Amino acid sequence: MRAVAETTLTFEGRFASEFEELAVPWKAAEAPDPQLLALNEGMALELGLNPADLRTPEGIRLLIGNLIPKGATPVAQAYAGHQFGGYSPILGDGRALLLGEVTDVNGRLRDVHLKGSGRTPFARAGDGFAVVGPMLREYLVSESMHAMGIPTTRSLAVVGTGQPVRRETMLPGAVLTRVADSHLRVGSFQFARVNGDTELLRRLADHAISRHYPAAAAAPQPYVAFFDAVIAAQASLVARWMLVGFVHGVMNTDNMAISGETIDYGPCAFMDAFNPGAVYSSIDEGGRYAYANQPLIAEWNLTRLAEALLPLLHEDQEQAVALAVESLGAFRTQYSAAWLSGMKAKLGLGAGATEDIAAPLADDLLALLQQGEVDYTSFFRGLGSAAGGATATVRALFVDPEAFEAWAERWRALMPDAEAMDRVNPVYIPRNHLVEEALAAATAGDLGPFNRLVDVLADPYTERPGQERYAAPAPDDFGSYRTFCGT
Ligand code: AMP
Ligand code: MG
Repeated sequence: MRAVAETTLTFEGRFASEFEELAVPWKAAEAPDPQLLALNEGMALELGLNPADLRTPEGIRLLIGNLIPKGATPVAQAYAGHQFGGYSPILGDGRALLLGEVTDVNGRLRDVHLKGSGRTPFARAGDGFAVVGPMLREYLVSESMHAMGIPTTRSLAVVGTGQPVRRETMLPGAVLTRVADSHLRVGSFQFARVNGDTELLRRLADHAISRHYPAAAAAPQPYVAFFDAVIAAQASLVARWMLVGFVHGVMNTDNMAISGETIDYGPCAFMDAFNPGAVYSSIDEGGRYAYANQPLIAEWNLTRLAEALLPLLHEDQEQAVALAVESLGAFRTQYSAAWLSGMKAKLGLGAGATEDIAAPLADDLLALLQQGEVDYTSFFRGLGSAAGGATATVRALFVDPEAFEAWAERWRALMPDAEAMDRVNPVYIPRNHLVEEALAAATAGDLGPFNRLVDVLADPYTERPGQERYAAPAPDDFGSYRTFCGT
């Protein structure tokens, strides 16, 4: 038999060896009957892994940390974090492990990480496990985000463990094998800061700079430049979320990646009808992480990062605060610019549509969409065909088509480019009713709907005949959607 762990890739334990204070060596729980539920062959190839090897019993055990590959030293990572505004000085991976880092075929260093791999010393009251539905959900949504060009952690595989897990009912257990540029979070820096360890903080920042923002190392004030780069990455990321109608759902500081990737898909969802107050998480009762709050929350989280970084910004605390405030001041401008530029692209507008014209046009449109409870994704995709004057399809989405027509006249005067619109307005997003349908079937043992949905979402901008049901809004009886954190 081929020894998959020997012949394939070599892991590095960079984080494990460089950050002993933040890395607890740990082992994944032994899965009684591991079964491969989903394998991302493209991702495997990108990592330099042979998909056929990963499908063998040995390969499957490697994917869940039951067979430890060469060089891997699995660790649970320590981090702190603000959860719904409240501070926890110790969170850490309660049910996850970093297997190690791998240099992919493009020479890029990637983390390979397990989620649902059993209790760790950070588990507190949790059981350390994850169940099939939510792990396939992260797989679906993260791969869809990637296909839309939105920075995100990736999903390599989901393996059913054969271990039943107690939730509201007994559910089948699973492990997600996740790939990320790194798992450094705002909470990692908060952890170093709360422990008063400036030397650790500095090493952490140096590590993040070398992995994500190498240009900062050459700046006159490297740590200020690093903070600026994280701000810019988040401003751009959250703008991308807003432009596709994505609600993350749990923007705690431990769920904000320093790399600028979307991370930790829990009770996330895409809006159907445009609604700034959209909340899908059953535990977000106050709507802290509602759709329209996301840019403000990102800024709030970056302010927590600034507090953590202060000792690196300047030795004098007052001057450090002044530098942090100055850097943070850029967030709103950068976010607004990224959002408006993305919205102009969605509307097919070029450089001729200056900000004073495009911004009110966009705002007026969103007010109309909100008023009419119009399906956000269908509207923008349909609007492309309205560029030439064929407004029937989008018009039909409005209860008050007159107001829309008046808006469309203003818009058409700017000569929108329909073809360009189709390149940025997705036809296929992971609509909640489709995701639920796929997960319910998968949990009951039928992976057909999941696999078909994965295929459709892999190419979001190309409309395909016969796939109409994947483009359509939820049926009226789907009701108000909630996703649960009982993951
Ligand atoms: P999350 O909101 O999923 O990012 O998780 C917040 C914290 O709770 C992290 O420290 C997780 O590792 C931990 N956690 C979540 N679910 C479990 C579980 N079932 N068992 C142990 N720890 C968990
Ligand atoms: Mg998390």
